[in-house]
Amino acid sequence: MSDTIFGKIIRGEIPANIVYEDVDLMAFEDANPQAPVHVLFIPKEAIASADLLEDRHAELVGRLVLAARRYAREIGIAENGYRLIFNTNGDGGQSVFHLHLHLLGGRPLGWPPG
Ligand code: 5GP
Repeated sequence: MSDTIFGKIIRGEIPANIVYEDVDLMAFEDANPQAPVHVLFIPKEAIASADLLEDRHAELVGRLVLAARRYAREIGIAENGYRLIFNTNGDGGQSVFHLHLHLLGGRPLGWPPG
């Protein structure tokens, strides 16, 4: 599996503002935030994109979503609302090929995306 900038963050080789970590998952603030809250939730396993998820990843992906939901509640944005996004491959706007779930919130978010 090829390495990415997120692999370097997982290994502590480059800094990030980490807001959550457990044995399988990590979450850190996006370096180029698109909203007052913009956090990336990633598995430590280097899965390149949502398009490459396999049946064996079902629990991992569920835990990723639940971790994001829990964090949104903890920081107090859940009631107003937030958005969870897996940008996937080129047309999906994916630029880092290590699976990541964007949590965006803290302001009203436009729809549809550009
Ligand atoms: P994508 O476009 O692949 O869905 O999202 C990748 C995200 O990673 C972007 O929102 C980008 O700002 C963020 N990002 C890219 N490089 C870094 C980095 O080195 N540190 C952090 N914290 N975020 C990064």
